[in-house]
Amino acid sequence: MVIFNNQKELKAHLKPLLDSNKTIGFVPTMGALHNGHLSLLKKSLQQNEITVTSIFVNPTQFNNPEDLEKYPRTLEEDLKKIENLNSKVIVYTPTVEDIYGKNVTSESFDYDGLEHQMEGKQRPGHFDGVGTIVKSLFEIVDPTKSYFGEKDYQQVLIVKKMVEKHKLPVQIVVCPILREKNGLAMSSRNERLSKEEREKASFIYKTLLQAKELFKVKDFSEVYHFVSQAFRSQKFLELEYFIIADSKTLLEITKKYKSKKYRAFVAVNVGKVRLIDTISLN
Ligand code: AMP
Repeated sequence: MVIFNNQKELKAHLKPLLDSNKTIGFVPTMGALHNGHLSLLKKSLQQNEITVTSIFVNPTQFNNPEDLEKYPRTLEEDLKKIENLNSKVIVYTPTVEDIYGKNVTSESFDYDGLEHQMEGKQRPGHFDGVGTIVKSLFEIVDPTKSYFGEKDYQQVLIVKKMVEKHKLPVQIVVCPILREKNGLAMSSRNERLSKEEREKASFIYKTLLQAKELFKVKDFSEVYHFVSQAFRSQKFLELEYFIIADSKTLLEITKKYKSKKYRAFVAVNVGKVRLIDTISLN
């Protein structure tokens, strides 16, 4: 495994590979790797000659300083997991300065309104931070394909929009959500939960599955009512939002059209840990 912590050396290493037209798959992460991340790496290894992954907790996408400070950082274990999966993966673990220099700020992005929904509303500036880091990393790595998880569905649409608007020569590959046995979506933030909280948090996916069944036969307003009532009975789980939205525009549903695809999105606080999940409804 080759590890780089500065972009100059990484670029120098990648240059001859790019010059000889090798396909490069890229998996950006914030570390504390779990099987969800590894599934993205596996896909990239299958589809490309070279795979690069980055591990970088990007400060500009955190609107909550405590969330940034407490974000799990487990670099040694992450490197072992990557090495066990495939020792040919190229790892980029930059410092904040290597990415931002002295100016740790975001660029402003226009994602045609996608940024005003859900996570954009709840976490001001989050998607400017995401756009800034993803664009920088794409410029450094110059990948053929880059892999993103459907768990962060809004992020996937945002990244696709950014790629389209900036005409970046990269194909975005979307990968399915990996879950714990109890249904809880795998997430680095799960590391901050106690065993009991992890068990309790399985309620999130169970409720999404029930919402999906209900959505088939009932009006959407009844699904909203059902979900908000269901979370009221959960004293460890505080529902921040439950939203049914158009899968393309992310605009919240106002009327159900047969021709449209919908998804449910949820954000839940378990103590001080904020979890998100999503499911397609039709
Ligand atoms: P993160 O380290 O949280 O920024 O995630 C890095 C990438 O892994 C993102 O594209 C995520 O959507 C993806 N990812 C996170 N959790 C999962 C999961 N449970 N299943 C599949 N992909 C995931």
